[in-house]
Order: sequence, then C-alpha cells, then structure tokens
Amino acid sequence: MIVRKKIDRIEFGLFSSKMIQKLSAAKIYTPNTYDEDGYPIEGGLMDPRLGVIDPGIRCKTCGGRLGECQGHFGHVDLTRPVIHVGYAKEIYLLLRATCRACGRLLIPDDELKKYDIEHPSSLKSSIWGRAQKVSDTEGRCPHCGEKQIKIKFIRPYSYYEGENNLLVTDICERFEKITDDDLRYLGLHVRPEWMILSSIPVLPITTRPSITLESSDRSEDDLTHKLVDILRINQRLEENINSGAPQLIIEDLWDLLQYHVATYFDNGITGIPPARHRSGRPLKTIAQRLKSKEGRFRKNLSGKRVNFSARTVIGPDPNISINEVAVPRLIAMELTVPEQVNERNIDDLRKLILNGPKVHPGAYNVITSIGRKRIMDENKEELAKNLRVGDIVERHLQDGDIVIFNRQPSLHRISMMCHYVRVLPQNTLRLNTAVCAPYNADFDGDEMNLHVPQSEEAIAEADVLMKVQECIISPRFGRPIIGGRHDHVTGMYMLTKDGTSFTRGEALDLTRGIVRLPKGKKRFTGKEIFEQLLPKDLTLSYEGKLGKVCIRNGKLISGVIDSEGMSGTLLKEIFIRYGSDVAREFIDNSTRIAIRAIMKYGFSIGIDESDLPREGLERIEKIVEDAKTEVDRLIKSYHKGELRIIPGKSLEESLEDYIMAELGKARTMGGKIAEEYAGDNSAVIMARTGARGSLLNLTQMVGLVGQQAVRGKRIKRGYNSRTLSHFMKGDVSAEANGFVATNFKTGLRPTEYFFHSMGGRESLVDTAIRTARSGYMQRRLINALQDLKVYPDRTVRDDSGTIVQFKYGEDGIDPMKKCYLE
Ligand SMILES: [Mg+2]
Ligand SMILES: [Zn+2]
Ligand SMILES: [Zn+2]
Repeated sequence: MIVRKKIDRIEFGLFSSKMIQKLSAAKIYTPNTYDEDGYPIEGGLMDPRLGVIDPGIRCKTCGGRLGECQGHFGHVDLTRPVIHVGYAKEIYLLLRATCRACGRLLIPDDELKKYDIEHPSSLKSSIWGRAQKVSDTEGRCPHCGEKQIKIKFIRPYSYYEGENNLLVTDICERFEKITDDDLRYLGLHVRPEWMILSSIPVLPITTRPSITLESSDRSEDDLTHKLVDILRINQRLEENINSGAPQLIIEDLWDLLQYHVATYFDNGITGIPPARHRSGRPLKTIAQRLKSKEGRFRKNLSGKRVNFSARTVIGPDPNISINEVAVPRLIAMELTVPEQVNERNIDDLRKLILNGPKVHPGAYNVITSIGRKRIMDENKEELAKNLRVGDIVERHLQDGDIVIFNRQPSLHRISMMCHYVRVLPQNTLRLNTAVCAPYNADFDGDEMNLHVPQSEEAIAEADVLMKVQECIISPRFGRPIIGGRHDHVTGMYMLTKDGTSFTRGEALDLTRGIVRLPKGKKRFTGKEIFEQLLPKDLTLSYEGKLGKVCIRNGKLISGVIDSEGMSGTLLKEIFIRYGSDVAREFIDNSTRIAIRAIMKYGFSIGIDESDLPREGLERIEKIVEDAKTEVDRLIKSYHKGELRIIPGKSLEESLEDYIMAELGKARTMGGKIAEEYAGDNSAVIMARTGARGSLLNLTQMVGLVGQQAVRGKRIKRGYNSRTLSHFMKGDVSAEANGFVATNFKTGLRPTEYFFHSMGGRESLVDTAIRTARSGYMQRRLINALQDLKVYPDRTVRDDSGTIVQFKYGEDGIDPMKKCYLE
C-alpha cells in the first residue's frame, strides 16, 4: 500500500543541543578515524553506527545494508560553546534588544501591552527598533534600571560591549534569561541560546563517503577533514583547560574552534580566510555543497542531465531547408528513436536490424512483449525473422526524424525549435543561415544541443508547435525573425534593381533546381526571375528601404527587394496570407537565388571606396569649424550671463544642452555630406538596403566620429576640473569634453582617442553587467512563473487553478498572431 500524505506546511527552525544529541546515533570524540588494521575506530568520524558505505557490511544502528540504510547523524560535544555563524547577525540584534543584566526586552511593560502578541509579525520591526534604541543610546533598562552599554559587532562573529570582548558563554547566559513572552513579542519561535552551539551534528558517512584509491589508500571527503580539524582542536582545548593553562591560550584555542565550526558550515565567509587543503585548494563544506550554480539546488535538483541528446560545434549550410538540421553520421549512429512495427514499415525495419548497430541506417535493440533484446551479429538474422507487428525497434536517427535543436542561453521560446534531421558527413551540426537570428548563433565556435523526442506524442507536439517554419514570426515583436539577411539582401538587391537583364541561359543558371522558368521566353529581367518565387495571386505594395515596392498578381511591377522584402513586410504578408509552408519555401528559395546572384556579380568592399573628394572633406571641416565657433559663442554668452535658461534646468545644464545640440547637428550635417559624396559604393548599398552597417557607421569612417558620451553626458570626469592635462582648467569647449572632430579613416588625435576609449569602455562594462544581472532576473522570473498555464478559457492560472490573469497578458493577444488583427 502506498501511503500518501499531504504536506500542510514546512517550518524552518533550529536544533537545540538536546535535539542534536537526541538525533545522534553516536557521540564522536576522537580525531582518529581508522586503527592500524584499517578498521574504523569507534567514536571516530567513520564510526560504523553512522551508516554504511562499503558493500557487504551491515549498519550497526539499523542493521541495513548499503543502499538500505540512509545513514545516521552523530554529534560532537564542544568543550566550549561557539556562535552559529548563520545567526551571527541575529545574535547581535538580540543582544541590543535585551537588558544586559535582567535579560528583559528593553521596553516598559505598559508600553509592551499595546502591542498585539497574537500578531507579532506586523509590529516586529517597530518592536526591535524601539528596544534597540535604548541600548544604542546607553539608556537604562525600564525593568531593573541597569545602565546599558552599546554593543559592537565585528564580522563574522565577534561582539564587544564598550571595550570588552563578549565571551560566547556570557552571551549564552544572557540569552537564557530572556523570557518566552518577550521572544514572542519579537516574533521569534526558537530559544535564542540555540543560536549558540554547544554540540554540533556530524553528518552521516553516506553524505561524505571516503574513496578508496588504487593504492588502497583512503581519500576522505572534505567534510570529514573539516570534522577532524574540529575534533582535534576540541581535544586540545579540553586538555589545556584540564591542565590549567593560562586564559590567553585557552581563548586562542577557543577562537580556533570557533573558526573551524564556522567554516564547517560555510567556507566562504567574508572576513576570515577559507580553510584549505594541504594542496591549497579551499575545502568544500556544507554551504559550498548547496550554493550557487554548481551547488545541489541549481545543479542536481533544478537541473538534470538528459539522455537522447547531442552537442557539438555548429556550422552553416545554405543548401538545406530552414526546417532541417544536418546531423553528423557519428551522432546519428549514437542517438536512437523507438519505432513501432506495423505492416508498412516492417520490411524497412528488418533491413535496419540486419544492418545492426555499427552500420548507419541500423538499429540497437528490439523490444518485444518478452523484453528488450540487443541486436548483435549472432542474433540479428533471427531477430529480423521474428519481428512482429507491435514490436518496437530502437533504430538510428535517420533523414526526416524530428529533433529539437537548442542554443544556450535559452532566453526565449525560439531558442528551442524543431528541425528535421538530414544525416550528412562531417562532424558539425549545420543549420541554414536564415535561422541564426532566433538562436543568436554565429559560427565562431558556437555549440548547440540536439534532443530526440522519444514518444509519438512528443514527436507530434514538437512537429506541430515548434517547427522552424512556425516560428518565422517572432513572439517578441510580431515581425519575421527568420529570413534572408546580410548577403541575401545584398544579392537580392543586385538581382532585382532596375536595368538588369539576363539571357535564358544565365537565368537558368540562377534558378536551376529552385524554380521553373516560363517556357519560350528568351530574356529575363532580375525582377522577372524574383517573381517566380512569389505566390501567383499575391498583390501587395509596401514601403521598402529604397522606396515603394509594388507587386500585382505575383508580378514585381516596381521597386527592389531589400531587407523589407527578404525578412520584413513581404515575408510577413506571405506568412499571413499563405501560411508557413509557403513562407518557408520563400525563405529557402529566395536566399539560395540571392546567394547565386551575389556570386555571379561579385561583391566586395575596400578602403578606397570610402574616399571622399577634396571638396567634400573641406565642407565637413567647415561644418566642424562652424560648430566650434558656435560653441565658443555659447560659452561666451554663458560667461556674460546672456544665455537663455531652459525651463527646469540650471544655467550650466542649459549650456551643456545647447552645446550638445550644436555638436549633434554638426555630426548630422557631416553625415549628410559624407553620404552625398560617397555615392553608390558597396558600403552604401549595404547600409541602404539594410544588409549590414548603417549610414552612421559610414559617417564615422569618412566624416566625423562625433561627441563621445559617458553616462549620457559629455565627458566631464578626469583631473581636477578638467578632463585631461592637455586642456586648461574649467575648459568647457567641444574638444576638451569629448568631441571627436576627425574620422576613423584619417585617424583620431590622441585626446580624441582617449575620449573614444572612455565611451567604448562604458558600453563594454554595461553589456557585461547587463548579461549578469538579466541572467539572475530571468532565473527569478522563471522560478516565479514556471507553473502558470493558459487554460482553454484563455485565463492564466497557476498549478492550484487560481486565476492569475483573466486574459493572457491582460489583452488576450499573442504577439506572434497580432498581425492578423491588422
Ligand atoms: Mg559565437
Ligand atoms: Zn543504518
Ligand atoms: Zn534589566
């Protein structure tokens, strides 16, 4: 019978020394663990009453064998009590809140009556604050009249009363005097003296097993080492006390005991050096086992390693569909799919069994009603012959199988999408470059994971919900995230721009294997080649990057295809009107034709392309000069006090704003001129079509770099009232505050270079901080929201069925589908 119990509540508390002793199966008192024969010593840390870690031995406490006995706690009685480091702060607060003589709460009784003892939590903080005020100001106890002395806390575990060091035994004595009623007012459910340890629990040996090395030496767990340290000091302290050693020596040893007990709990306390191994490696004690990413919670409880997965470096393959992923044969032969035998696949599966596990389209196991049988050379013929409908064959991954592909950090749901397998040679996982964006993948060494769903339900669900073509529209902003980019855009621009003409031969070359050209036509324009990819009844006009694009009945009447066409409005319209299959086909085909086109024309960029004619350079120089004079004029009028103040700002702020505006204007104008003269070169084409780069990038290369900013302001920090020693003190001119008047091509002046580096450093730091912080934020959000679900009635509920939102996202709109509203 299975006994099911419902947990009503969980309460965290403290063990008293009595409870620790009651819990214990053995008192541990000697630091020695094994005798000369290698048997564990009774009363040592490997005491057989604490559980079993060796096969064939029975537990001395419960009689269970290895695996049956979970292990039992022991305990160590400390010669002198020590502070529980986890409660050091609470001890400090309580010392301040209570009287040093009588132990009462430092609040008069009549005032205390006003607080509601039944609901202490609501007033807890005010009671604490009220009581501590008395001792902080060295007032008198309202109960016994004793003058209080200010308590000082020095991390991690020292307390001073005035100049006197408070001994742990003194603290313990004081805490024992505190009445239960006073504790209830403070909202405490445990006796405060439990925060001071006179015994410590010894973890069962199953939690700190020793490892037998090849040389038959034993290597002990870090926790055992730590406990040995505690026992050793504990023993020495006892011996010294018994022999009447001077107080100073005893206090030193006591402090050492405190250190070892503290680091037994947490070896990462700030303010004390971590306990180390002989090798210099810090010991991993209790807190280290639980904490952070590698700790028990995040590594073993929230996360589990999975089977049926693969991971390797990724690479590009423009020839496979966006729906596909190229899987190395080596991986395909390691991963398996369970396939049920039916009349239609029985012959194919027989062939796979005959191939065995070592030949590619092969199989590992056959599962019949009797059980699982491994396919081997000796039995494969028989297994193939006896294969029956209803059996299951665990076969290799094959072309067309469904897998889930993932790249970390998995920040949104399109970080995991479903792909169809293409088993191909070589050792990398390959994806179509149009799918890089949702994964944020590039090929500078990125690795990705592959998961093979193992049941028909999982496969169907992945196929319907997670397939790449279903994720073309981003759930984040409702526009395509998958689609042609970079060279695809440039290639399509070069193909579809006005005035292109191809012979039938050339056109066939571009479209071979992708689309069929209309019969009989001898010459084609680029637009005519492109329109073969469009649905025959598509009529649409939209504003592209380079002007209006007009499509009527599947014919590209006017306009060129740019990033709006490859991965913007046009793609979105195709997706909405014709569905994901047509959209996927459009992406697959348009990118391939674009690549062929760009390869046919050739496309490159060189430094000489960003040359500006003399006249252009002079005009930019003039603009910079004019801006500087204007800034000087502003500064002059500021000094004269003639500057008009912007409402809500100080005079200095107003000046800053005017200067910023003036210099911003200079850059815009400089950019316009650079654009005007740069003409129609490759860089400009890429920027204008939305393939890569921007006109701002170009401006900074050939025009001027512009104002550098730190914390959104002109650069002001540096030496005493100046940024650099190159300038006069109090100089507010453009060049002294981070305005870069030169461009990257001619090169920056040293001061400009320095300012530019300041701005660059800020953005670098920002990104580093942002990723760290957003990761933490994301983890907390996931933990808070993980069991929310959208129900069929469109309400959002948690796991108990409580409604969190009446409408999903308060408006009931799925951003991925919001385009259907338009
Ligand atoms: Mg990368
Ligand atoms: Zn046991
Ligand atoms: Zn008192």
